[in-house]
Amino acid sequence: MNSGNLLLLGMGGTIAGLAGDPKKPMAYQAGQIPTQALLEGLGLEPDFGEIEVHQIANIDSRHMSEELLMQLAWAVKAGLERDDISGIVITHGTDTMEETGVFLHATLGKLASHYRKAVVLTGAMLPANAEHADGPSNLRAALYMAKESRETQQYGILAVMAGKPCLARDLSKQHTHALDALVVNARELDGPIHKRQADLNLPTQMVWPWIEIVTSHGGSSGRFVDMLTSQGVEGIVIAGTGQGSVHQALAQHLVLAAEAGIAVVRSSRTGAGAVFSEIPEPDSAWNWLSARDLTPAKARIALQLALLEANSRKTEDWQSIFATI
Ligand code: ASP
Repeated sequence: MNSGNLLLLGMGGTIAGLAGDPKKPMAYQAGQIPTQALLEGLGLEPDFGEIEVHQIANIDSRHMSEELLMQLAWAVKAGLERDDISGIVITHGTDTMEETGVFLHATLGKLASHYRKAVVLTGAMLPANAEHADGPSNLRAALYMAKESRETQQYGILAVMAGKPCLARDLSKQHTHALDALVVNARELDGPIHKRQADLNLPTQMVWPWIEIVTSHGGSSGRFVDMLTSQGVEGIVIAGTGQGSVHQALAQHLVLAAEAGIAVVRSSRTGAGAVFSEIPEPDSAWNWLSARDLTPAKARIALQLALLEANSRKTEDWQSIFATI
């Protein structure tokens, strides 16, 4: 095992949630228990080592903000740079864990690999006082993953839920209540993770680019696109049908939006698989970009980061930056 302590950063979520009646675990409040208390009764070995706990927030992650993302990122960065910390675990609500996962992966994944440390996100689908609460086993697995990263050579921004480890970038919530909702379609985590592009800069400004997700569906029109364009939207992620296909009425307005300088990224609303640029429309002809395997929610954060990075590098080529995430 690594020498050094672990850092446990708490954000809240169902893992720290309580049900009014433990027999009705679906009726609960997230973010009720302090992160420190989650360690009680985990049954870690006596020589497991010290765990330093920082409570950053105790929220339901549907209320996640850019400010909290930045606070979390700075706490992770500080932990990575400390010699006495060998790994980091983050407890987080599952509703937006995939967004936090892609954000940390894009901004700190390379740094984590550089220091040969794992940052492991975990959470729970059932509140802490539910009969078969999954939080304790998930947290235990995450702590051991962080602790044993040197032996397993699994570094970077990782996650574990329902016994399945993966890259945090690969999380996506694809079920409302299944215990493996976030990892059901994630790739296996296998061996060293060094094939990363350079980290993007951590945002320093409080206001990030305004990006909205627009869903394509039967009966779509472009009216919503026109409203967003007139209000100054900076980017639009299309949650397309199937392989990222877009209703022709909506597409016409999105082509105009792209011509007007709005960043347009095309993803799929299906929840799994990938969107490629050639199928079914050539994105390049319309000045759009495909989101590849990023879900609409992940593509939205990735596009924010790509626009911020392009701005700081004084380039208009956000597309090449997006492609590295
Ligand atoms: N609403 C909760 C949250 O995202 C769900 C969970 O943690 O599972 O904080």
